[in-house]
Amino acid sequence: MKLKEIQAKSIITKTNLPDGDFVINPYIGCMHGCKYCYAKFMKRFTGHLEEWGDFIDIKTNAADLIQTKTNKYHGKKIIIGSVTDPYQPIEKKYQLTRKILKKLLPLKIKLNILTKSDLITRDIDLLKKFKDCVVAISFSSLDYNLQKKLEPYASSYDKKISALKKLNQAKIKTVVFISPILPELTDWQKIVNQTKEFANEYWFENLNLYPSIKKDIYKLLEKIDPSLITKYNEIYLNNNYWDNEEIKIKEFCKTHKLNYRIYFHHKSKK
Ligand code: SF4
Repeated sequence: MKLKEIQAKSIITKTNLPDGDFVINPYIGCMHGCKYCYAKFMKRFTGHLEEWGDFIDIKTNAADLIQTKTNKYHGKKIIIGSVTDPYQPIEKKYQLTRKILKKLLPLKIKLNILTKSDLITRDIDLLKKFKDCVVAISFSSLDYNLQKKLEPYASSYDKKISALKKLNQAKIKTVVFISPILPELTDWQKIVNQTKEFANEYWFENLNLYPSIKKDIYKLLEKIDPSLITKYNEIYLNNNYWDNEEIKIKEFCKTHKLNYRIYFHHKSKK
């Protein structure tokens, strides 16, 4: 792992993401090494020759870049962790996310944090002070062996559930982000059943086979069960699969009275 301390020029960036106004990414790169990581495309903007997951640039001045005497961000939604995990292991040492939270507190923002790490519980004292704060913890599997293959350095699913519980007990709004849903592998109903006591909302996202991740995912499928490759080829040629999953999710959520959002990236042929 190549670690480099850098001085960033800016830290709060405008975003086109549908659910946010601005994003903050305290690090460039991510140690969690998820095989399905959509942020891999970032590598080409970094000048790094290492593989995605093998380098981290640490924006040591991140918190200093946040102006506190401004109302520019008042009521705006700021997402922390759109292309990196703000609570990846290096955060234990540098505490950039914690410092950023302290600077954001007076700005009266709507805070949204995405993570796969139970390190977030370290900052519950600060998160509680935000009037509008949502923490989304993402899950792709509740099978320990599969999770190790998919997201080798993220917190294990039981640690994520325990983090959800602590956040929920602290009255912080929690989202279980089931992402990505891998056909034949992600049992989203099981994830809901094991987390519903501690989740205020569910988000669902399907696996999008971007060219940057397809090779890694297929290598993994080959190891898990080679017959999955044929199945995936069929699924990704035929949008009906995701249309049907969407219907199942909607019915399930209505039956169980769950708040939910579906972020499926596919175009229906209908
Ligand atoms: S935690 Fe998020 S940013 Fe980090 S490797 Fe996994 S998917 Fe990518």
